[in-house]
Order: sequence, then C-alpha cells, then structure tokens
Amino acid sequence: MKNNETLLLKLGEVVLKGQNRRAFEDRLTANVKRRLKGLGSFQIYIRQSTIYVEPVSESCDMDAAWTACGQVFGVVSVARAVPCEKTVEAIVETAKEYLSEAFALARSFKVESKRADKNFPMNSIQISQAVGGDLAEAFPRVAVDVHNPDLTVFVEIREKYAYVHAPAIPGAGGLPVGMGGHAISLLSGGLDSPVSSWMMARRGVELEMVHFVSPPYTSQQAQDKVLELARLLTAWCGRLRVHIVPFTEIQEEIRRNCPEEFFTLIMRRFMMRISETIAKRAGAKALITGESLGQVASQTMAALGVTEDGITLPVLRPLIGMDKVEIIHMAQRIGTYETSILPYEDCCTVFTPRHPATQPRAEDVRAAEAALDVEKLIAKSLEGEQWVWVKP
Ligand code: ATP
Ligand code: MG
Repeated sequence: MKNNETLLLKLGEVVLKGQNRRAFEDRLTANVKRRLKGLGSFQIYIRQSTIYVEPVSESCDMDAAWTACGQVFGVVSVARAVPCEKTVEAIVETAKEYLSEAFALARSFKVESKRADKNFPMNSIQISQAVGGDLAEAFPRVAVDVHNPDLTVFVEIREKYAYVHAPAIPGAGGLPVGMGGHAISLLSGGLDSPVSSWMMARRGVELEMVHFVSPPYTSQQAQDKVLELARLLTAWCGRLRVHIVPFTEIQEEIRRNCPEEFFTLIMRRFMMRISETIAKRAGAKALITGESLGQVASQTMAALGVTEDGITLPVLRPLIGMDKVEIIHMAQRIGTYETSILPYEDCCTVFTPRHPATQPRAEDVRAAEAALDVEKLIAKSLEGEQWVWVKP
C-alpha cells in the first residue's frame, strides 16, 4: 500500500446531463465525501468528469475507501492510481515500482495513455510509445502486445500530475442518490424488497423505508433482520430512516371480517395506504415494492391492480419482469442474500389464505373491505408508528 495512492472515480451518465451536470457533479461529490467520513482525511474534488480522492493523512484507510467508492451510485469505474511528475522518466519509474507485482505475473503488456492536459508536449500515442519502450527494457521478459495483453498500464496526464494505474474496476453505475427524487420503499425481510430498493437507489432515488410488524405473530428477530437488511443497504445509499408500523390489529380485523380468499389482498391494500400516508408526510413522490409479475398469487396482474387501487401515488416495481434466479444473483451481488434467507416470519406469511384469489375484481375486494373501518384502523396503526435511523 503506497500512501500517496489516489482514487480516480470516473463519472457515468452524469456527464450526459447537459444543464444539470453541475448539480449532478456537486451531489455526487457530496455523496462521496459523506461516504468517506470516518475513513480518514481526504481531499476530494472533481475535474474533467473525474473525482479525485487524495489521502491527506497517513491514517487514511485506503482499502476501505476503495470499497466505499465502489458503492457510490453515479460512478462508472474506480481506479487506484499513483500521481507523479509529468515527465516520461517519472512515469516510467512510478510504473516500475507501483506495478512491479503485476509485471512479475504478466507475460505481455501495453500502455494506454490519455492526455487531459492538452498543453503537455506529447500526444497520447507518443506517450504510450515512450513509456512502453522504457518499460519493455525494464521488464525484458514481458512482451509488448497491443492487442491482447495480460496487463494494461494506464497513464493519464492531468492538470497537476500524471497518474499511473492498472485497469479500473467497474463502479456501482447509475445516478447519484438524491437526483432521482424521494420515495418510500416497502421493506420486508425477504429477498425481493432489498433488491428493489437497491435498484431504485441506483437510479438516484433517495429512500425511506417502511416495515410492517405484527407482534406477537412476528418476532423481534424478524424486525432485527429487516433493520440489518437496511443497514446492509446503507453501504450503497447512505443512512436510511426506517419506519416500523404495527400491523397486528389490521390483520386480525381482516381475518375476523373478510373472506379468506381476499386476506392477502386487503392486507396489501392497507400497506399501500399507510405507506402513501407516510410518503405524503415526507414529501416522497412514489412507493417502491419488490413485487414481480406472477411470483405469488398476490402478484398476478389483476392482484397488482387491486393492491394499488386505493392510492394515487405511483408504485415503482423494478423487479416486475425479473426471474427469481436473477433476483437471487442481484441479492448476492449487493450483499443482502445471506441475511434475507434467514428463516424468520413476515406479517405477509401469517394468516395466509389456503386458496387466495388470483383473478380478483377491485369492486369485490372493495365490497369485502367495507366491513372494516379502514380510516380508523389506519389512524390507529400510525399512532403506533416508530422510526429509527440506520447508519452505515
Ligand atoms: P419479499 O421477498 O421482498 O418479502 P415477496 O415475494 O415475499 O417479497 P410479498 O410478501 O407478497 O412478496 O410482498 C411483496 C412486497 O410487499 C415486498 O416485496 C415488499 O415490498 C412488500 N412487503 C411485504 N411484506 C412487508 C412488510 N412486512 N413490511 C413492508 N413491506 C412489505
Ligand atoms: Mg415477503
């Protein structure tokens, strides 16, 4: 680990946003700064679609910073680079030292150069040739191969310094959190809703979570599991507020007064209404769920229509066209899989009907629901609402 190592974060779609570009860049830089808090003192600034993360003190945890930067939405790639003086000699010396292990493992290499500083006297081809020639002499057992090299050495001539680095790794992609609006995500303990939350956060949406609990049918462990899922998501989207909403009485009232085939649907209509109330209070403009077409009886096209029939905010369902295996792969990739598969009950899994309606009609469900004092039940449930901030 070289202590003068710098992280170079390349911006993605952000650069395409014309007039809004400045706002996007400011937001992204602020997000990176916030995410690196506690990992040491860094100088963080943006030039020419690249965010520079330079350690200022010896105590900077560069490995943790590297991991954290790979989880910031809006960044397409992250490279660890070493700055040096803007001369061919300095670049070659830096590459020899910094990439000596990579050269020991490679059988072939090439140099790829970029000249962001147009005042630099050599163009990128000349830089690559000069640096490549000297490195070929320094590592005679590693052949030059411009088509299919084992190792590509990147040289970037920028404002203050030249930078040398090995290939960048892909960043988290998407748009900076905060640029895509604010939404309420319905978070259960399952596999799907952490993934759907992550997908909307990647599109720049700032999330606030709602989780429904039904004690004593659901346990404290089940709730803790959901808070742990939220905590895992904070690595990607920063701190999150999680609203915990009691749901027991609503479920008991549904069971007592409504036809069994509509239990789940009516319950889900309550979830939507309560979440919408929380959203409006918070100024959020949409709800997010982990529903996927046809996955269970309450996720047929007809059932989804009935579920959102009582609300006006749009319901975003990023998993709607995904297969379960794809969702599992994403859960593994974003780090929520192992927690999601812990076997705790969810309020959706208590009082499940034996034969749920898969082709419900909204008017039938509304008529069944009329047996309940919907407004009063919602108000009572919201009286018991609590919320917690979950931090990275
Ligand atoms: P998941 O794997 O996310 O639990 P699921 O396929 O099990 O989803 P359901 O249990 O029918 O499906 O729930 C569908 C969606 O409803 C979930 O993805 C989530 O967005 C929301 N949801 C379900 N249970 C809860 C809950 N207890 N609190 C908040 N939202 C919930
Ligand atoms: Mg579930």
